[in-house]
Amino acid sequence: MARPAALLLALATFLAPPALAATPAPDWTAAGDEAASVLSRYLQVDTVNPDGHEDRAVAFLGAILDQEGIPWTEYTFAPGRSSLVARLKGSGQEAPICLVSHTDVVPSEAQFWPADATPLSGVIKDGEVWGRGALDMKGMGVLELQTLIQLKRQGVALKRDVILVAVGDEEVDSGGMRDLVEHHWADIGCSESVNEGGIGLQNLLFEGQTLYGISVAEKGIAWVKMTATGPAGHGSRPDPVQAPHVLARAAYALEQYKPELHWHWSLLELFKNVGATQHGLTRMVLSSPGLTKLALRHRLSSNPATRAVLINTINLTNYSGGSSPNVVPTEASATLDCRLLPGTTPDDMLATLRALVPDPAIRFELLQGRTANESPTDDALYRALAAHAVTDATGAVRADAAAGPVLSVGFTDSLLLRPLGVHAYGFVPFEISLDDANTMHGHKERVSIENMRNGLRILYSAILDVSHA
Ligand SMILES: [Zn+2]
Repeated sequence: MARPAALLLALATFLAPPALAATPAPDWTAAGDEAASVLSRYLQVDTVNPDGHEDRAVAFLGAILDQEGIPWTEYTFAPGRSSLVARLKGSGQEAPICLVSHTDVVPSEAQFWPADATPLSGVIKDGEVWGRGALDMKGMGVLELQTLIQLKRQGVALKRDVILVAVGDEEVDSGGMRDLVEHHWADIGCSESVNEGGIGLQNLLFEGQTLYGISVAEKGIAWVKMTATGPAGHGSRPDPVQAPHVLARAAYALEQYKPELHWHWSLLELFKNVGATQHGLTRMVLSSPGLTKLALRHRLSSNPATRAVLINTINLTNYSGGSSPNVVPTEASATLDCRLLPGTTPDDMLATLRALVPDPAIRFELLQGRTANESPTDDALYRALAAHAVTDATGAVRADAAAGPVLSVGFTDSLLLRPLGVHAYGFVPFEISLDDANTMHGHKERVSIENMRNGLRILYSAILDVSHA
């Protein structure tokens, strides 16, 4: 080590806050195993939404917090449905940080799960914890709970409150988060948050490399009803002005939509970070936004999953109309799920739809609209998450991992937090395969105990970095 660096290190050690210097790190194997055992029990708590019954999750988490002496509050937003907010007090020198999760899970088709590891079993077998919500997102919820518990047990002095926010109804209507944001934000008021969003995906861009995406932006929505009107009549006499025909032509016109590609800044920053882990030509291409666009344009825009990151999408998800095979209805309609990049409003999308389908027999009605939003990467929490994501248990930076910002094509409750001025990030610190990722909302959802150990270490270390006094 060169002398100036050695001097800096000595100075840094001298100046390090005593609370941190005196704080031993938790034993990650024991802490991770404890987290896995809590998760096993949490997965057995039935919070399948609908109907949610998230008050069961609040009671479960609350009992653990009581044992640890961490105060918490229950906020009820509907009968049997509530959210939990728990708080580790800091000095108040900085605004609080929120560790956000949702306590509800989506329904499952149990027949596609192993008989000895059903959706509500929480069974631990072959080193994995099985159950609906293991990845989305009770596993992350437990990492957040255990982060609070470990900070308390280690006696870490905090410069800000660390707040656990466990909300209900994310999967259907964001009812829990809307209730907190609209009625109780004065009790919370965090400036930064971590929630679900990105995750570590193995072999995503390069074989042997895990890419940790940290969600910094989420697409907005325009859910639209497209209705065609025409004369009613007998099914035996087809006429192009009848509503179902008008609707079919409109649907075809939407299929012809050729949206412009938009390269969100997060995508280019992500590729730049990945490039820094590569060599030669790959490194050179990925470090240049212009060359990246040129080299990856075709590959990214020809795969539906990555194409959705580059464009405003229009997806026809439902048709409805007549009731009988021989009756032509006056109206026939279709539902459009449009997802909007930052910079496109729901009204912009309505204007696009009207331009694509100028037929006066068609009308568009906005059922629900939300504008996309984003948080900067120039932020202490973002930097801490990105740094610890690629660090191994010895503290060394992994050669086989990279981290960077991503634009999520779906939205989470973070979309509701950013308009309040919160820097909101989505990052579940698990390392999984693409097949594992498909178990979220699919079959055989599970998480390894190894992921609970490493995930807790990563999350705890990042939260410690930005909250210790
Ligand atoms: Zn989720």
